[in-house]
Amino acid sequence: MEMLIKEARVYDKIIKNKHYRLLLDTPMDFKPGQYIELYLKDKFGHLIPPRPYTISSASTKDFLELYIGVINQGLYSTKISKLKKGDMFYYKGPLGETLLDRIHSKNLLIVAFGSGISTYRSLIHLIASDKSYNLKLIYINSHYDDFFYNDEFYELEKQNSNFAYYSLVTKEDSSKKPKELFFEVFSKIENKDDWNYLISGPQKAVTEFYDILIEHKIKGEKIITD
Ligand SMILES: Cc1cc2nc3c(=O)[nH]c(=O)nc-3n(C[C@H](O)[C@H](O)[C@H](O)COP(=O)(O)OP(=O)(O)OC[C@H]3O[C@@H](n4cnc5c(N)ncnc54)[C@H](O)[C@@H]3O)c2cc1C
Repeated sequence: MEMLIKEARVYDKIIKNKHYRLLLDTPMDFKPGQYIELYLKDKFGHLIPPRPYTISSASTKDFLELYIGVINQGLYSTKISKLKKGDMFYYKGPLGETLLDRIHSKNLLIVAFGSGISTYRSLIHLIASDKSYNLKLIYINSHYDDFFYNDEFYELEKQNSNFAYYSLVTKEDSSKKPKELFFEVFSKIENKDDWNYLISGPQKAVTEFYDILIEHKIKGEKIITD
């Protein structure tokens, strides 16, 4: 059955450097990894072809959260930057499969670049407190100001001994390269075949780390990319 386009309002928008955290006044039941199709209108009031955005809401169910990276001259990026509290928008969703169906291990290493974190934020919150999982997160951004969820992940790490968090800023802290941090974490993993590896972010970074894993004898079926 064709899903209807629904309407809702912007609950709040938080801007930090090149990212928006858009809070939408439309709580919904969703599973980690699912997305909505967001529709905005043009100046004539016609709906513009939608863009998909992963639902990045964490534990709170009061509103729906999206985490959006600014794309130079991006149509939606630009329009979203102009949205204000109370503005109307349109959506279809939740859509897509849940990450939970693609994960076949209780041991997870997540590597997220920039707005790629939106793919995994809800999953991280869901399983960090489940002691049957062993979860490691490497979260890489260009600038300190890009880190929306840094404090949140450090707090989660404090509360959950099965969750280890590593962050890196590439443009302002040149002490380490993403690959070096990755190998520091990866080399300490025992029974590497028993892990799932989840990578999200710009295509170039995802491909690079996928290839690194394959070179290190990780089977393709153990690697999940978005
Ligand atoms: C399943 C799914 C989930 C997604 N979830 C998220 C999410 O949670 N957060 C998020 O920020 N984005 C997400 N995206 C990407 C999002 O749907 C849009 O493509 C993105 O916001 C750009 O849209 P735009 O209208 O601003 O740019 P457009 O007007 O569509 O593009 C403008 C120009 O920018 C180029 N461009 C488009 N995307 C990129 C890019 N990523 N990097 C560099 N250049 C680009 C285009 O080639 C074009 O030249 C997701 C995509 C998919 C398929």
